[in-house]
Formats: sequence, structure tokens, C-alpha cells
Amino acid sequence: VKEQGKNGFQFYTPEMNEIVSKKMKLEIGLRKAQERNEFRVVYQPQIDVTTGSLSGVEALIRWHHPEWGTISPAEFIPIAEETGLILQIGEWVLHEACLQNKKWQDEGQPPLRMSVNISSRQFQQSDLVEMIQRILSSTGLDPAYLELELTESIIQDSKHAVTKMQQLKDMGIHLSIDDFGTGYSSLSYLKTFPINTLKIDRSFTSNIYNDPKDASLVETIIHMAHNLDLKVIAEGVETREQLQFLQQRHCNEAQGYFFSQPISAHEMDELFKNQIEV
Ligand code: C2E
Ligand code: CA
Ligand code: CA
Ligand code: CA
Repeated sequence: VKEQGKNGFQFYTPEMNEIVSKKMKLEIGLRKAQERNEFRVVYQPQIDVTTGSLSGVEALIRWHHPEWGTISPAEFIPIAEETGLILQIGEWVLHEACLQNKKWQDEGQPPLRMSVNISSRQFQQSDLVEMIQRILSSTGLDPAYLELELTESIIQDSKHAVTKMQQLKDMGIHLSIDDFGTGYSSLSYLKTFPINTLKIDRSFTSNIYNDPKDASLVETIIHMAHNLDLKVIAEGVETREQLQFLQQRHCNEAQGYFFSQPISAHEMDELFKNQIEV
């Protein structure tokens, strides 16, 4: 009977109450965040491991609340998804990222690929293609410098995924599979879907040196991708050893704290001046 509180069959606990109200609080905050200008986009460099030069950046959203401080996207993106707010937020990120990329190009920086994360709900929205078209024409960005990051589960759960992806590809946009290898999906989609790039998930990259199985997986993914004419980017590269492993296996690009954390557009300007070296 003593244990009841901990293990008993209570359906509603104070902890649950707290979780629910925290979620509600975040939701209310999220609804106001956009008009209050609390979102920012940061950019994480993606490096060509053979030349050491910057080839692209991934756009990542940040939310700075005046009282709560910085809230991680891992925490608020799921809520934005659930409530549908992700549609507005996602469109804002896309616009911001495309505008910034065009600005860099107009300033004479070497052209970069801008990768933007697309959530499930966003991918399923019926006017996704038109929305992206609108953003490309209003910002003037060449579609060849836009890449959309999709996860395996997104494309598997979506009706007409192939058609949609083909429309995007026909516009000249690149498509990549994010967190590759974590979606438990069959590999057969790789031959039907018009994909350009696989992004090896950080969970594999980080264990290259202490788990021979992860090393084999990474090696195999790179090999398979190349046989299918796909490019490979390894995420979460934190050490020189990891980078060397990837270079030796001819991985194309790498992204991670070893090179840079995600940084502001202003910090990117500094980076252009000093160019990262591998
Ligand atoms: P993701 O797309 O897999 O993004 C990679 C995450 O790993 C980012 O976290 C990045 O800051 C972090 N990261 C990069 N390099 C390293 C490294 O070397 N070590 C470690 N430990 N972490 C590294 P972040 O920015 O907190 O984003 C988390 C997730 O939130 C993203 O995972 C993505 O799923 C989602 N997200 C972020 N921004 C957006 C967005 O604009 N739209 C959508 N739909 N989702 C977003
Ligand atoms: Ca991503
Ligand atoms: Ca990822
Ligand atoms: Ca992830």
C-alpha cells in the first residue's frame, strides 16, 4: 500500500499535470513567437571533405523567448507539428533561408547550397510545391541552391510522396534524406524516390571509433549511396579521427561541431572572410 503512489494505477499525477501545462504554455508562447519576432535562423556549415571548402549550410531554427530563454527545436517543433503552427513557422524559415542565401550570392560569396528541414505536416500540405515556388520567385534564389531535408518516415507516410518529390526535383531543387538509417524503412524507396543526398545520422557517426559495427554501417552506407549515384553527408562530426575515417571512405561532405556549431548569418559573414580549413 505504501508503494501505491509510485507504482499504483493512478491515471493522473501531479507530474502529468505539469507536463500538460508546460506544453500548453509552450503552445501559447509559440502562437505569439512569430509576430513578436522571437525566431531566428542559424546556419551550420557543411564541408567538402576532399577540398576542405564550404559547400553548403543547414538552416536551423532558434526560439529565444524573452522570459524563458532559448527553447530547443527538439522541444517546440513537435508541438508546432501537433498544432499545425509548423506550416507558418516552416514557411518563415524557408523564406528567411532562401533570402539569406540570395543575399550572400549577391554579395559575391561563392554560391552555397542551403538545406532546409521539412517536417511531416509541411510535406503533406497540399500547396507545398506552390509555396516553395512563390518563395523562390520572391527571393530570386536559383532553385539549384536549395535543398530540402526529408526523413524516411515523412516520405513513407505521405500519399503521393513520389509525385511531390518529382515536382520539386523538376523545379531544380535538391532533396536529401535526413537521419538516414534511423527510420526503420525498407531500402527500396531509394530506387523510386528522386533523391540526391543521404545524410548519415549522428548516432552512427559519433560511434565510428568505439563501435566497429557503426563503422561498418557508415562504410556500407557510403558505398551503397555511391553505387546509387547519391551524395553522402555525415552529420555530427566532432573529432578529427571521425573526419579522417570519412575521408578515407570517400564520404563527400561532413557537418558537425568539429567544423562549426550552427551560427548566425552575421557569424557566417566572418567565416566567409576567414574560410574554414580542414
Ligand atoms: P536535425 O535536422 O537532425 O539537425 C541536426 C541537429 O544536430 C541540430 O540540432 C544541430 O545543432 C545538432 N548538431 C550538429 N552538429 C552536431 C555535433 O557535432 N554534435 C551534436 N551533439 N549535435 C550536433 P538542433 O538545431 O537543436 O535541431 C534539432 C532538430 O530540430 C533538428 O534535427 C530538426 O529535426 C529540428 N529542426 C531544427 N530546425 C528546424 C526547422 O527549421 N524546421 C523543422 N521542421 N525542424 C527543425
Ligand atoms: Ca536536418
Ligand atoms: Ca539530421
Ligand atoms: Ca535528427
